[in-house]
Amino acid sequence: MLAEQLPRESILVVEDEPELAQLLQLNFDPMGFDVEIAPRLDAARRALRQRDHALVILDLTLPDGDGLDLCRELRQAEDYTPILILTARSDETDRVVGLELGADDYLVKPFAVRELTARVRAIRRRVALSTQVRQAPDSRLVFDGLEVDPSSRRVLVAGQPAELTATEFDLLLHLASNPGRVYTRAQLLDRVWGDEYGTQEHAVNAGVNRLRAKIEIDPGEPRFVRTVWGVGYRFFDPKDES
Ligand code: CA
Repeated sequence: MLAEQLPRESILVVEDEPELAQLLQLNFDPMGFDVEIAPRLDAARRALRQRDHALVILDLTLPDGDGLDLCRELRQAEDYTPILILTARSDETDRVVGLELGADDYLVKPFAVRELTARVRAIRRRVALSTQVRQAPDSRLVFDGLEVDPSSRRVLVAGQPAELTATEFDLLLHLASNPGRVYTRAQLLDRVWGDEYGTQEHAVNAGVNRLRAKIEIDPGEPRFVRTVWGVGYRFFDPKDES
């Protein structure tokens, strides 16, 4: 069978707890991935040099150092392999720092494996979608009850046009191009508002509130632009509610 001749994509699991690493291997294998396990940072660096991986699942507390360092190294080397951070640390600062270093998502231990596999599927969809958006900038983003058209910069809410300012549109486009991805306020400020706003992160909160008032049926109970407490915001695709 032809399909079986295609090389399987690989997930690198950087995790020093053998039982957890094996549990992940058991769950990703039926999803069609080879799973490579690196119990330490040095093994992870070696594995990353040897082959391309579709995804890195990265524990932060490792015997020979901090997983955040590996995240930083990859992004500084302009390697944009998706990274999902696993952290047992309760401090929200780690999540913010991880995302700002370029991680794609995070999960706090202990977590349900089903939650992890759902996040991995969401990251995979996002990578496919952002490739598609890059290749065809005219392609509309269509969600249940919301349409965003980058070429005409028009937005339809339940089929009706919504009047967004340029900033509100950019904010929506940025979030909706990566459904499920968490952005910190600093990231949104930098990418949507630009330098001149300095560190005024409350501009982001205010912008999100204005955007919600225009695109959400109930801005107090937002369906699309959701708050991630202590971290930032993520766009939710109703399709991901399974
Ligand atoms: Ca650990």
